[in-house]
Amino acid sequence: MEMLLERPVLVLNRLWQPVHTCSVKRALKLLCLGHAQVVQTEGESRYQTHDIGSWVEYSGEAPSSIAADLIHSVKVALCAPKIIVLAIYDRIPRKEVKFTRQNVFLRDKHTCQYCAKVFIERELNLDHVHPRGKGGKTCWENIVTSCIPCNTRKANRLPREVGMRLLNEPRVPKWRPLFGLKEQASEQAWQEFISPDRQKVSIAL
Ligand SMILES: [Zn+2]
Repeated sequence: MEMLLERPVLVLNRLWQPVHTCSVKRALKLLCLGHAQVVQTEGESRYQTHDIGSWVEYSGEAPSSIAADLIHSVKVALCAPKIIVLAIYDRIPRKEVKFTRQNVFLRDKHTCQYCAKVFIERELNLDHVHPRGKGGKTCWENIVTSCIPCNTRKANRLPREVGMRLLNEPRVPKWRPLFGLKEQASEQAWQEFISPDRQKVSIAL
């Protein structure tokens, strides 16, 4: 139950564009507040949207294929949503892109910012452009993706001291709706919304 409540739900904006993910718990809260509707992902009326009332009803007649996703409370049983669509445009959660090792690699497209070659994750390192030992901070603007040989070559020096140049000036990534989403999209029901050919899917709005 606890795990089911933490499962990710795809969040669509009013234009049915994927913007984010949230937990089942948060999705149900938004649903109860009337800030979002659930997008039905199974059955004949696939893509139909539900408010809390009709979702309770739908959950009561839930097909056996999703019976395992039922959340039981004292009074009602609710299906865990897989996709929700926000009712209020301004409520799109514009979370900042988290500063993590993996997100730096994503920002730099897994490309060493010194030799411009693409590497797999385990062959990459994070490099402090302005070395830490010389007061360089650990932040978006001072951390770049680097391959291990370049990282070793640069060591504790500034790029210009070793005749190295940065491919791109490191910046805080601008919010991109799909930032990192593909990497966590294991849910089949999401595919049509996040794959590049999603335009082919016709949705009755
Ligand atoms: Zn390199």
